[in-house]
Amino acid sequence: MAEGNWHAADIDRVIVSEDQIREKIDELAKQVGTDYGTAESVLLVGVLKGAVMFMADFARALGRYGPPVEMEFMAVSSYGQGTTSSGVVRILKDLDSDIAGRHVIVVEDIVDSGLTLSWLMKYLQSRRAASVEVVALLRKPDAVKVNVPVKYVGFDIPNEFVVGYGLDYSERYREVPYVGVLRKGVYAQG
Ligand code: 5GP
Ligand code: MG
Ligand code: MG
Repeated sequence: MAEGNWHAADIDRVIVSEDQIREKIDELAKQVGTDYGTAESVLLVGVLKGAVMFMADFARALGRYGPPVEMEFMAVSSYGQGTTSSGVVRILKDLDSDIAGRHVIVVEDIVDSGLTLSWLMKYLQSRRAASVEVVALLRKPDAVKVNVPVKYVGFDIPNEFVVGYGLDYSERYREVPYVGVLRKGVYAQG
């Protein structure tokens, strides 16, 4: 599966293939389209940069099944201690428009500790959105421990560091069209 490209040599294992991603996004969009069938519109809020690929594909899929879609992007950075995020969040890029009264769906690449997402949902609710739900392509086991209601989840994956389909390692591998685990040697080289 991971063949023919420069990155194939860096990927140890494919976790979610391109076909699986495409099928799942169609499934999620059908579900969201049904749930929001009577809404005037939905406002997708993509979390930069990891959710960019998912946002683009999900928005197009929702265009087939749902009400009219608008798109906003936010960029946040969590003040972590080492590799664990603390849940204290700094906004790097805020919403461009007023979301009061809007049906908001946060579009996330992956939920791990869920701390960033938990902060983000409170923030969006404080801006008086009519509703706030989350669609995440991937979810790791630790996410279950935190009380973040992620209504729509693509895939539950093992507790490993993954890259591809928007997810980076040191800003690389975002363009890889599937989700995979890096070879150990890639980290070792720094
Ligand atoms: P959380 O606040 O849920 O712990 O962190 C979520 C963010 O951490 C994600 O949006 C993503 O940017 C990053 N992240 C968590 N797990 C992974 C992973 O396995 N691979 C990559 N590339 N980023 C991850
Ligand atoms: Mg993210
Ligand atoms: Mg990253």
